[in-house]
Order: sequence, then structure tokens, then C-alpha cells
Amino acid sequence: MLSRTLFLIVSILLISPSSALTYGSNTPEHTTITITRSLNYDAKKANISPKIVDDIIRIFSWEIDFNRDLRKGDRFIIVGNRGANPSALIYIGATKRVAVFSYTDKLGRTGYYDINGKSLYPSFLRAPLKYKRISSKFQRKRFHPILKTWRPHRAVDYAAKTGAPVYSVASGVVQYRKRMGALGNVIYIKHGSNYVTVYAHLSKFSSGLRPSSKVRKGQVIGYVGSTGRSTGPHLHYELRYKGIRKNPLTHPLPKQKQVDPSDYWRFKNKANALLRSL
Ligand SMILES: [Zn+2]
Repeated sequence: MLSRTLFLIVSILLISPSSALTYGSNTPEHTTITITRSLNYDAKKANISPKIVDDIIRIFSWEIDFNRDLRKGDRFIIVGNRGANPSALIYIGATKRVAVFSYTDKLGRTGYYDINGKSLYPSFLRAPLKYKRISSKFQRKRFHPILKTWRPHRAVDYAAKTGAPVYSVASGVVQYRKRMGALGNVIYIKHGSNYVTVYAHLSKFSSGLRPSSKVRKGQVIGYVGSTGRSTGPHLHYELRYKGIRKNPLTHPLPKQKQVDPSDYWRFKNKANALLRSL
């Protein structure tokens, strides 16, 4: 049994990455994309549809920075018949593995969940700090106190003491951490493929924080200040969805989903059986 398993593993490694592999009745049909150039290029070579590539990017972006983390030789395994929704998606990198399994909830919505039955996307914190009050809401027109002109304010300003800690609202990757004109000391954090949060006028950054640093939800990233174009200590916070600034107080935020408790063990056993069969 062990030698057969080893044989299968060796075979999977040797066989052309673009072929659909089927081994008897125990191994589910699956396709492996091995990265040689880019996910898009190698997926096309492996006959994987653009829709599934989009799904892979959308789902795994919470765990993998596709611009920086992907290496030659990394593999994506797509389990299931071509054309149908995959029953599992697995990423195998040099230092990291991520596997998700499809699950349809009682309302008929199909999503992908990790082995513990949780979606890869986290719940976001509504506010990135403990604040005294909201000093300026998201609005299309407000009279700017320094510029003395009417202009949109597509952000929320939170009044707080200088030095109050500012938290990342969700896990993510630092895009920028620098001084930037009117925003002063500012941090941009990318969460998954669609969300970016912006934290401006900071008095200082947390030590060790650099562009491409990974941050966790609730991690202190900097401290409230009044750098840049600012009349007093506050945090200017922006929530961007697909590049567009949204109202952080009202925009629906990602909320982590879980497999229904009544389905949990069935889901987990199936997922484990699938991993063993590959
Ligand atoms: Zn502001």
C-alpha cells in the first residue's frame, strides 16, 4: 500500500502538469497547474477555464499574494470534472499549502472552506481604533477646514489622542508605508484581491512594518497623529472596494463564513478522504 502511494506521488510529479489525472476509482479526477510563468499562462496551457482561474485568485488571495508569493514549481490542484464547479482547490507552494473544499449551505449557496470549515476570508473590524468621536463622516461635499473649499471626503475621520494605537481591520499585506503629501504618514493594506484600507496622518509607524509585510487582523500598525494636511490629531480611514472608496460606516464588510455545525463532521471527513486520495 505504501509503495503504491509513493508510486502515485512520484507519478504525479513526473507526469505532464497539464494532463488530467485519473487513477482507478479511488482517486478523484483532477488537474494540476504547475507554475512556469504565471497562473494565467499555465492555467491556459492546462485547459483550465478563465472562470476557475478567477475563482482561484479570488479565494486564495486571502492567503497568497499573487504578485509576490508565487514561485516557479508551485502547483494548483483542481479536483473535479472540467466544466463543473471544482470540489476542491489546493495550492502547494515551497513553504505553504492551502486547501479549500466546496460546500453548499442550506440556502443553496456554494462556497469554499478550509479543512476546519471556515472561509479563507476573515471578518473585518468596523473601525481601526478606539476613538473618542467621529469628526468627519463620508460625504460627497464638505467644507475643508484648511483649504476653505468644498470637496468630497470619501473617508471617515476618527478623533483620538496622539499616539493611540491603530489596528489593521483584517489580515492583509502592506502596500505602502510612507509619507505621502496631504495624507502625511500613511499605510495602505491590501486584503484579498478586492479590498484596500488606508490609514493616514499617523504620528509614527509600528517598528518592523514594511511594504509587503503581512499583518493580522487587530495588529497595531501605527499610531494616531496629525501629519500631512491635518488640523489636529485624528485618523483618516478609507475603505476601498475594487478601487472605489466606500463608506466605512455602512459598506457591507466581509464576514467569515462557517460550514453549518450539523454538516461539519461530514464535511471534514470528506475533505480528509479527498486529501488522502490524491
Ligand atoms: Zn479625512
